[in-house]
Amino acid sequence: MYRTNTCGELRMENVGQTVTLSGWVQRVRKMGGMTFIDLRDRYGITQLVFNQETDAELCERANKIGREYVLQVTGTVGERFSKNDKMPTGDIEITVSELNVLNEALTPPFTIEEHTDGGDELRMKYRYLDLRRDVVRRNLELRHKFCLEVRHFLDKENFLEIETPVLVGSTPEGARDFIVPSRMNPGMFYALPQSPQTLKQLLMVAGMDRYFQIVKCFRDEDLRADRQPEFTQIDCEMSFVEQNDVIDVFERMTKHLFRTLRGVELGNEPFLRLSWEECMRRFGSDKPDMRFGMEFVELMDTLKGTGEFGVFNDAAYISGICAKGQAVYTRKQLDELTNFVRSPQIGAKGLVYARVQDDGSVKSSVDKFYTPEVLNNLKEKMQAESGDLILILSGDDANRTRKQLCELRLLMGSRMGLRDKNKFALLWVVDFPMFEWSDEEQRLMAMHHPFTSPKPEDIPLLESDPASVKANAYDMVCNGVEVGGGSIRIHDAVLQAKIFEILGFTPEQAQAQFGFLMNAFKYGAPPHGGLAYGLDRFVSLFAGLDSIRDVIAFPKNNAGRDVMLDAPAPVAPEQLQELQIDLVCKEPNP
Ligand code: ASP
Repeated sequence: MYRTNTCGELRMENVGQTVTLSGWVQRVRKMGGMTFIDLRDRYGITQLVFNQETDAELCERANKIGREYVLQVTGTVGERFSKNDKMPTGDIEITVSELNVLNEALTPPFTIEEHTDGGDELRMKYRYLDLRRDVVRRNLELRHKFCLEVRHFLDKENFLEIETPVLVGSTPEGARDFIVPSRMNPGMFYALPQSPQTLKQLLMVAGMDRYFQIVKCFRDEDLRADRQPEFTQIDCEMSFVEQNDVIDVFERMTKHLFRTLRGVELGNEPFLRLSWEECMRRFGSDKPDMRFGMEFVELMDTLKGTGEFGVFNDAAYISGICAKGQAVYTRKQLDELTNFVRSPQIGAKGLVYARVQDDGSVKSSVDKFYTPEVLNNLKEKMQAESGDLILILSGDDANRTRKQLCELRLLMGSRMGLRDKNKFALLWVVDFPMFEWSDEEQRLMAMHHPFTSPKPEDIPLLESDPASVKANAYDMVCNGVEVGGGSIRIHDAVLQAKIFEILGFTPEQAQAQFGFLMNAFKYGAPPHGGLAYGLDRFVSLFAGLDSIRDVIAFPKNNAGRDVMLDAPAPVAPEQLQELQIDLVCKEPNP
């Protein structure tokens, strides 16, 4: 037997017992004639003692042990002389009588402590060592519990967990597919699913009624900070439902998860619901962070044509936010904000600011262009008071300027400490536009995906004004992060064909790519809808983390590489030959 107990479980009531523990060496300390070893496993840390006086030979052996050695020890539980109230096992220690080194260890390339000295890349390369750290392991434990609770909840609601294949045909969700060559079908490729979207719809046609799956999805996208080429969804679909039915189930699931995993009560009230249009107008984002206000105030009437400031007089959109109590910002801090909005990733031309002074008068960076009356109007319009700072952006494209102001709002929110990780503000964003115009492709694209149904009342507009059609689509947003999204689907082959046509598919192309789905709809498709949560992101929010990588056991880096496994990598020429694939780029591009 390797152990009688774990390293986290012995307490005062075990004093006097003979126990056997196994684990890793966290630390070795020599003090006088004693050697102390902290032995660690998943469950905790227990202090071992070796005494030079009572067993010199054993103590000598203990002195040769290094960090991360794997040990098995037998000894007696004793009360500690100097107790450590920071550790659950801090009242006791084990006086070791038998020591067995199960495995030696090289000195790890970084310290395996809460605050490690290892950089990101190094920790990724030795992820199995990084995972030994308490903080990282705790995230995986949370993820495990999260999945369990999801399964419990959905099982009670009659959902069936059904697996769908990983080797499929293309499942367009707006990203590029990863493809896999087929040896048995030379020249042909599978695609890895961007999501099980069409398959779950087929499960509804099959009468499964309620489906879910905790499932890997694959998208070959350019990676942003919190994206991974493979990620996990909680994917769900329901039959005979309308938008409110879906929202009801998943609002309850979310409340359940917050209650059981975070001890957070989200209350009995339904979550806030805002239309996409309202979100864009008030926050410049379809995933507004509602932990704080600082809403946009449109200033066209107030500042355009009311003074000599050419920038505003030429603008198509002017809007401001009011940062409470921030008039104390120094010139240098304001310059920093200006540089921020002018940076290439934000791309604004400049920033106008106005401080409301103690006497209520307004001092702004555009004083020379406006009369005090106009500036006072500005103050009133912004509902600003003494000590407040008004920040204003303008531009010739309202949507672009809104996005820029959104970034500024988020930055100010962070600076003002309004984005507390222990506070959660959830909402549903609804009534998304059905389509968005793509300059790159010069055509309308589905804003959610091509299987989303238009609002029934907007169906007549599909012919006359498709750009104005609203979709039966919804996103769940938490703290400025889109945690989930879905839609009511089209279940009618004719309407589905119409949407493909608007999206620029010829009937032949649509048939070739989606024939299986449209045919299925001809055999009795129930009205259905669903949604998918991004599991990694949801768990990282629960854990209060910024990056989804921290909740993934073996994540990829920003270049989509697994630096531990060294993947992707070239394959042997024979493998390519078998697949009848000839490479144009013979040298891999590092
Ligand atoms: N398949 C969609 C997605 O991955 C979610 C859904 O519509 O259910 O975003």
